[in-house]
Amino acid sequence: MKSILRHCFVMNPKEYAKANEGDDVYLCEYEYDIHWHSFNRPAEIDNGEEDDDGAESDGDWKLSKDPDSDTEEEMDYDEESIKNIIAKPSRAHELAANSQKGRFFGLQKIGVKKIPEHVRCHKQTDLERAKAAFLLASLPKSLPCRDKEMLEITAFIKDAISDDKCVGRCLYIHGVPGTGKTMSVLAVMRNLRTEVDAGSIRPYSFVEINVLKLASPENIYRVIYEALSGHRVSWKKALHLLNEQFSEGKKIGKEDDKPCILLIDELDLLLTRNQSVLYNILDWPTKPHSKLVVIGIANTMDLPEKLLPHISSRMGIERLCFGPYNYQQLQEIVSSRLKGINAFKEQAIEYASRKVAAISGDAGRALEICRRAAEITDY
Ligand code: ATP
Ligand code: MG
Repeated sequence: MKSILRHCFVMNPKEYAKANEGDDVYLCEYEYDIHWHSFNRPAEIDNGEEDDDGAESDGDWKLSKDPDSDTEEEMDYDEESIKNIIAKPSRAHELAANSQKGRFFGLQKIGVKKIPEHVRCHKQTDLERAKAAFLLASLPKSLPCRDKEMLEITAFIKDAISDDKCVGRCLYIHGVPGTGKTMSVLAVMRNLRTEVDAGSIRPYSFVEINVLKLASPENIYRVIYEALSGHRVSWKKALHLLNEQFSEGKKIGKEDDKPCILLIDELDLLLTRNQSVLYNILDWPTKPHSKLVVIGIANTMDLPEKLLPHISSRMGIERLCFGPYNYQQLQEIVSSRLKGINAFKEQAIEYASRKVAAISGDAGRALEICRRAAEITDY
């Protein structure tokens, strides 16, 4: 994504087949995995045998299926268009696939434009800096008002990984949207990483999954397996191998002597009809060889109560609630992002904070309102 310089169009397989010669038409065939320093085919992500159990079909991705792939699957798209793409690539497509032939175009040929010096050195105004400071995706340097919760999460993790057996540890974090659940766990993990680097706690592996990003709940097995082993397999195979590792101690990766902290964000979306995915995941930490610590985050307070009894008993009793922020807390959160930036009046921040606190106590919302205000003012 970072290498895209101009407008970019994402096409479905049919449109791709019809794309004009001479266009910059590329089939995204490989993606780079920073963690494992390897290239993977997106096709391999979704080449599992989809089953009867509600897994969604991802026809578009299957299109670029690896011919060497060892799994058979149903293809639910137009066969003619596949032949067009795979058997008779147009000239543009051939060029697009130049990486396969070991040829690369020089940067000039793809229309690189140098960003002029004065634009690069542009000194941001206070409003521009404020807008950047309010971006939700960035993990802020500090998370005010969540010290207590972060201490609890830290204590839970340290306790879980220092226990050599580390059996059956599971923490359930819940709270309404925008109360900093995700950011707090990530901030804790960032702090723990520096402690690992300093050698004061034992190394662990950390797998972070947001269920919203999975095509179907079952895909979580693949993601976990890939994170632990670096290999992509179908979800059924991944489930089998993970079961083997956790129950019998069969090694799947180089790092599996370390405890593994598995963060599952939006955990409630893993609920399937028979609750099997949640059951498996919550069952693993109780297995003798697992060394697995599960942290689940969800909005619903009563998720454990909604589960079948044999599953909710696996969930343990460790729960942490993130309450909605009051207006003073929101004020502090907004102001802390604006340190050193002189763009907002105190009253403006207070006004936005009071409005949001009266409705939801969602910090994300307060930050967005302020960012929008900065945008409008700047405009
Ligand atoms: P959801 O349930 O919607 O996933 P969440 O509880 O996980 O919400 P986050 O995504 O962690 O909420 O937080 C929403 C936004 O608010 C993020 O941009 C985050 O940086 C910001 N935020 C939340 N709490 C704080 C805080 N205490 N200090 C600074 N920023 C915060
Ligand atoms: Mg979240």
